[in-house]
Amino acid sequence: MSFNSLGLSDALLKAISKKGYTTPSPIQQKAIPPILEGKDVLASAQTGTGKTAGFTLPILQILSQGQHLRQRPIRALILTPTRELAAQILANIKEYSEFLDIKSTVIFGGVNQNPQVTQLRQGVDILVATPGRLIDLQNQGLISLAKVEILVLDEADRMLDMGFVRDIERIIKVLPVKRQNLMFSATFSKDIKKLAMGILHNPVHVEATPENTTVDAITQIVYPVAKEKKTELIIKLITEGNWKQILVFTRTKQGANKLTESMISAGIKAAAIHGNKGQGARTKALAGFKDGSLTALVATDIAARGLDIPLLPHVVNFELPNIPEDYVHRIGRTGRAGANGEAISLFSPDETVFLRDIEKLVGLKLPVQNIKGFEPDPNASKEPIKQGQGRQQRDSTPKKPKTDTTNRSTNNSFGPRRPSQNNDRRSNR
Ligand code: AMP
Repeated sequence: MSFNSLGLSDALLKAISKKGYTTPSPIQQKAIPPILEGKDVLASAQTGTGKTAGFTLPILQILSQGQHLRQRPIRALILTPTRELAAQILANIKEYSEFLDIKSTVIFGGVNQNPQVTQLRQGVDILVATPGRLIDLQNQGLISLAKVEILVLDEADRMLDMGFVRDIERIIKVLPVKRQNLMFSATFSKDIKKLAMGILHNPVHVEATPENTTVDAITQIVYPVAKEKKTELIIKLITEGNWKQILVFTRTKQGANKLTESMISAGIKAAAIHGNKGQGARTKALAGFKDGSLTALVATDIAARGLDIPLLPHVVNFELPNIPEDYVHRIGRTGRAGANGEAISLFSPDETVFLRDIEKLVGLKLPVQNIKGFEPDPNASKEPIKQGQGRQQRDSTPKKPKTDTTNRSTNNSFGPRRPSQNNDRRSNR
């Protein structure tokens, strides 16, 4: 299938071709036609599937076909959980709308609101927003959503995880009742289904697994390692392997900071990216990582969510995630766009339950390789570390593992998560 056959305008086709895309991804093939028909869509798709173009291209097409009002009221509202994702969606919209008369902007917290307000005053057709700042500006009477025709909830599962459900409900209350609704989510828990039922009308369901080529291109490996030797091992891997670009995941913000400091002391150009970092620092770190001036970006799951870093050769789980879906999101950062990627997990005995849950989710026994001199003590405790500091520390809170290993699937690599396996844990968060 080609982009031509999806019914997109010449201006969009030109922008797509300029981006270098030749074939629409599965989610694009499935989502674009019903969106163009004006239907509500509920899409199961995670980052890396091309989902952003899956909703932004048809939105641009719909908006550019309609008549422009002089003041340019906001006609499409895209809600996303994180600032980085919001900024990336806007960057994509700008590229795709290069040959169209469409204005777009982004608003998110953590930065001065004045430049955002100025942009809004000048009129925008498409607004990408994180919920908090949107409500803030709405409360100050600085934004009108009365003319919104299309609402997108991107990464809806993550928005719920981050506690945005009330904000979403408040935003929806001020939107026109008659509108088109699009919802994208990587997983479908009970809560997500409830949210979808309250927002979408007779939605068309579409689903896309990450492209097979991408999945097949990821080599996964687990290195058992004594906890206290993880830092030494990762530094050795980076320096001896002469790695140039590596994304490292930690469970906690403190862990990210500590590891970054150790890397810098070892002469590795590294930066941390997490929720306690100001927007300026996060943007700078991401830019440095993308342009090659930083070798390692150390991130927590939430901070890394939605980051578009193409052609990433190495992803390292410095600590395994306690939420097994996060493993899939993490390793989805490598092996993208047909490139080969390596996902390495440094695994200490206290993470045994996390590893078992990940293997259960992905339906694979992950290959294990010992590195001489780094092996953990065979008698070390396999009990998860006790931290549990509540929601803000979500990434550091060990969850009670599920012990049921029946129904283990062996035919699934990283396809869509099977919701029934994860609902309980998600609703516990
Ligand atoms: P997303 O899932 O929206 O974050 O997109 C993942 C990556 O795939 C981004 O780098 C996009 O620029 C890229 N992409 C999106 N659609 C296509 C396509 N049809 N062909 C090739 N790359 C694409």
